[in-house]
Amino acid sequence: MTPRRVEVTRPDKLLWPALGITKRAYVDYLGAVADRMLPWLRDRPLSVIRAPDGVEGERYFQKNTPKYAPPWIRTVTIPAPSAKRDVAYTVCNDAASLAWLGNQAALEFHPAPVRRDRLERPDLLVVDIDPPEDAFDAAVEVAFLVLEVLDDLGLNTLTKTTGGKGLHVVVPIVRHVSAERLRHAATRLTAIVTERRPDLVTAEFRKADRKGRVMLDPSRNGTGATLVAPYSPRARTEGTVSFPVMPDQLRSIAPDDFTVATVPEHLDDAAHSLWVEAASRWRQRLPASLLE
Ligand code: ATP
Ligand code: MN
Repeated sequence: MTPRRVEVTRPDKLLWPALGITKRAYVDYLGAVADRMLPWLRDRPLSVIRAPDGVEGERYFQKNTPKYAPPWIRTVTIPAPSAKRDVAYTVCNDAASLAWLGNQAALEFHPAPVRRDRLERPDLLVVDIDPPEDAFDAAVEVAFLVLEVLDDLGLNTLTKTTGGKGLHVVVPIVRHVSAERLRHAATRLTAIVTERRPDLVTAEFRKADRKGRVMLDPSRNGTGATLVAPYSPRARTEGTVSFPVMPDQLRSIAPDDFTVATVPEHLDDAAHSLWVEAASRWRQRLPASLLE
């Protein structure tokens, strides 16, 4: 069925009151980033965080596509082994679906690192860089370390802010390994990075044991993992957005620079064409040294 034009209901509803961003303005934002964002949503099971009354109201994590969704909204059903019911995830492949989700006050987009035709074979390796509170500069130093290690392994990388406190380094790969082997590779990678700077990086999950260090959590690569999409806002007061950046920008940015209000003026930066190109053309295999 052909996607329709989406009518914005309650267009004056303030979704980010601190920024003066209404639902109308938010749907326009999604329209402005659609060409760049859609390649990262295409064919992927999508979870969203909805906040029907805006970021200061109640928020909830939605996996199942609502029954009242229009018939042209695509879904992919994944049998949930532990739950009683299968989950019909939304698949957002076009600007109309993105606008419909925007009108549903879906403020955060969390696609899975798999595509619908081969759900058991991930196509992204993710390094989730989690700094301690107020230590974005530490996240940046660790990002450089991660980029150096991946470069030594011959892998091309993408970097983005998370819209939260840290950074994501993303390595697009061809679908040549299982989710389990990918997680193994991510664990190996984390070990290499941690060995280079044990004073700065840890894989320690418990906050008390991190001792001010930046955490890399390889379990973000497991089955059922998600990654906030590039250009997705976060459902927080500040309206920050997960935003592609080039490594040479990292030392001069603050994560709060990129919000639903400011992003449209930053869209000409080099990082954006790199991400679009990566989504369609990069064909990388993980090196044997990470898989053994
Ligand atoms: P930050 O920089 O603040 O850490 P983040 O997006 O990396 O932001 P994390 O908590 O590190 O947040 O989580 C990494 C990813 O894992 C998220 O982008 C999200 O897609 C997914 N995730 C995190 N928490 C949950 C959750 N409770 N349910 C589902 N997915 C989650
Ligand atoms: Mn994180």
